[in-house]
Amino acid sequence: PKNRINVLLLENIHEHGINKLKEEGYNVKVHPAGMDEDELIEAIKDVSILGIRSKTQVTKRVLENANRLLAVGAFCIGTNQIDLITCQRKGVAVFNAPFSNTRSVVELAIAEIILLMRNIPDKTQAMHTGKWNKSAKDSFEVRGKTLGIIGYGNIGAQLSVVAESLGMNVQFYDLEEKLALGNAHQCKSIEELLSTSDMISLHVDGRPDNTNFLTDRHFELMKNGVIFLNLSRGSVVDLAALKKHVLSGKVKGVGVDVFPEEPKSNDEEFVSELRGLPNTILTPHIGGSTLEAQQNIADFVPGKIIEYINTGSTSNSVNFPNIVLPKLKDAHRFIHIHMNEPGVLAKINHELAKHDLNIVGQYLKTNEEIGYVITDINKDYDEEVIKNLKSIKETIRFRVLY
Ligand code: NAD
Repeated sequence: PKNRINVLLLENIHEHGINKLKEEGYNVKVHPAGMDEDELIEAIKDVSILGIRSKTQVTKRVLENANRLLAVGAFCIGTNQIDLITCQRKGVAVFNAPFSNTRSVVELAIAEIILLMRNIPDKTQAMHTGKWNKSAKDSFEVRGKTLGIIGYGNIGAQLSVVAESLGMNVQFYDLEEKLALGNAHQCKSIEELLSTSDMISLHVDGRPDNTNFLTDRHFELMKNGVIFLNLSRGSVVDLAALKKHVLSGKVKGVGVDVFPEEPKSNDEEFVSELRGLPNTILTPHIGGSTLEAQQNIADFVPGKIIEYINTGSTSNSVNFPNIVLPKLKDAHRFIHIHMNEPGVLAKINHELAKHDLNIVGQYLKTNEEIGYVITDINKDYDEEVIKNLKSIKETIRFRVLY
């Protein structure tokens, strides 16, 4: 019964998502803040579906205590807060919302670029303290300026299109070969981008290699008076280096939305060496936080999870082999997740044959770690088949759907 499926949702997930999971008949518990490792270890014991956003760390220790967990929904884009390998080894499928808030981040980046080119953060602050400073000094249009985008993925590419429509020249640097949209130019090296851009916006992902990716050396290469934005991940920029170059005047405007350490809730103080810097827009990791994006995410992620629970489909899973399955007609569906070692499929089919079960459909897909086999059979089975299938040595998890 579905009401035995316990769902735990952390970090203020949009009510669309909560309702969607409740309507499915699941037993849904909501906790508005994030949880630290120990809290989560305690809370996750009976949980089948965990929903988080970007703050909650789903570590190996957490997963070792999560024996009923079937799926994790990341109600955000990044998934490096989740130990994906351990999830695989425990048979836990992870889903995210890779492009539900792309547009929101892009709109904020565009707004900040324009405001920073006009020194608006300083000007508005001065006004609030009674200072009238009418001057065109150091204020520029964005039209005709060169925007350098580092990381030309979903967000970088979308920013490219919108920036170009405002008359900016766009260039980008990416580790991969990318289709350049519009008139955008792909730089051969990051050095080329850094030394020729008037504004630089960072949109790389949070892979471990990107920790402290942008350092003093990179800021040295930038043009004097550059505008710098990081709305990607807090860990990718050396903040001491950024601060040094803001104070020297080399970087004339900054927008930062993400930080190496972020408060766990709105009650905690925000501590950062960037506080108090001139012409610097600091925002509390809200690049993707619009009502539209939250609704998109809250529809998308539960949809994928419910589909996985009900049919076994793993389309869009970040760590499971992706299989889209046909609807079942008059059949039982066995789902077998196992360590990817030779011979497992043969063992499964041997068991089925032994019990005279006819296979009406079978789907197998593997990745480096795991194999995922779905077998549809059209006849009643006895408990022994289930027991035997579960006891195949490489089995990680076995589920019967109907
Ligand atoms: P994506 O995976 O589509 O794109 C990332 C791109 O960066 C890829 O093309 C990749 O090849 C490239 N890349 C990675 N490392 C690189 C490097 N060292 N040098 C050059 N290129 C590199 O991701 P996305 O959806 O565009 O998101 C980008 C970032 O924005 C992510 O880190 C995501 O977590 C973050 N994000 C932040 C917010 C927010 O609220 N501020 C919202 C959504 C996403």
